[in-house]
Amino acid sequence: MKEYQSMTKQELQEEYQAVLAQYRDYQAKGLKLDMSRGKPCTEQLELSNGLLSQNQYIGENGEDSRNYGLLPGMPQARRFFAELLGVEENEVIVGGNSSLTLMYYMIDMGWRVGFADSDHPWRTEEKLKFLCPVPGYDRHFAITEYFDFEMIPVPMHEDGPDMNLVEQLAADPSVKGIWCVPLYSNPDGYIYSAETVRRLASMKTGAPDFKIIWDDAYCVHHLTDELCSVPGILAECKKYGTQDRPLLVCSTSKVTFPGAGVAALAASEANIRHILAQMAPMAISFDKMNQMRHVSFLKNKAGVLEHMKKHRAILEPKFELIKKAFAQQLSPCGSIARWTDPKGGYFISLYVMDGCAKRVVQLCKEAGVVLTPAGSAYPYGNDPQDHHLRIAPSYPTVAELEQASQLLCVSVRLACLEKLLQ
Ligand code: PLP
Repeated sequence: MKEYQSMTKQELQEEYQAVLAQYRDYQAKGLKLDMSRGKPCTEQLELSNGLLSQNQYIGENGEDSRNYGLLPGMPQARRFFAELLGVEENEVIVGGNSSLTLMYYMIDMGWRVGFADSDHPWRTEEKLKFLCPVPGYDRHFAITEYFDFEMIPVPMHEDGPDMNLVEQLAADPSVKGIWCVPLYSNPDGYIYSAETVRRLASMKTGAPDFKIIWDDAYCVHHLTDELCSVPGILAECKKYGTQDRPLLVCSTSKVTFPGAGVAALAASEANIRHILAQMAPMAISFDKMNQMRHVSFLKNKAGVLEHMKKHRAILEPKFELIKKAFAQQLSPCGSIARWTDPKGGYFISLYVMDGCAKRVVQLCKEAGVVLTPAGSAYPYGNDPQDHHLRIAPSYPTVAELEQASQLLCVSVRLACLEKLLQ
């Protein structure tokens, strides 16, 4: 087939009629599918039902997880997350079920009181800004929007955010931090390079208490035999005396149960002391029984990696199916679309011709397939090029994905043809 961009008007019109007919066929099927949610499917949740029968509740030094106390978490749970995050046990606080709650709490803390390295709370300043690598995780952006930060988009590259721009922007004292998903980024699946980590750790910042929110949500979510990794940000910061800069989080949400997993926070010892002191009026302890269940069930990082192979067996065919549909249906059309090829994580980014993403979402919706709204991976939901779509393959069944991905491709072709014919 001839590429769209080199077709004559006449050829484009013929192709448009042909693709429109295919689209109408899909519409007639009355599909009702949802590709919008980056959540595990039921089969994945079943993998962790063994958690429900774990009944070890006494800790290694006789601590009774049923009772009050131990705000930093059960010692074995702190050790478990220390290994996952590549830090020391005393640099970890094990929280409740959500890392997002911990991230919200960190921004809230900076705003209200500041951190170990702050000389005043952020709220006392007129203007606050935060760096947002794009495309990124919408719920990160929702937190900084809630606290009225001006969110500054920074383009993501395959090896992390554009560091020349980050260094330049971070010199402004009103810029208080940056959102980072270092491994298998949401939604591109990109991986920060060692050089990116070094520059984040060593760069000069205008704000003395600049914070790197290091969201290691996908630290064990491999989809290939290559177990990719990123150098530890806390260790790197220690080399440059910036150890109070990073705040690391991760959780077992997409290892066991998103609704009932365990999340953890890691930071310098000084920040951990500071955070625990701030947490004291809020809680006597988090759910330590769930911490015990998780450590009994998963054991350690090796145990987690073994468990994650079962997730991969379910997820990999779904990712492959989508990429195959894109290659077969979109590649022959030329440069109307490109997509990422993640080695882990939960998403694929699909980039379509500028000005077409919203139209693709609308076309899919009108034929019964719900996609994540176009622009949702950008601060304020604003993708200035209107070109990005976040594809979430995990939740639908393979049969549903088969239909949805075909319709998606037809919708991309149709939207791009409409644009080229304008
Ligand atoms: N961070 C990222 C990058 C995510 O993609 C998600 C969920 O999609 C979360 C955090 C949510 O984590 P939690 O369930 O621990 O709150």
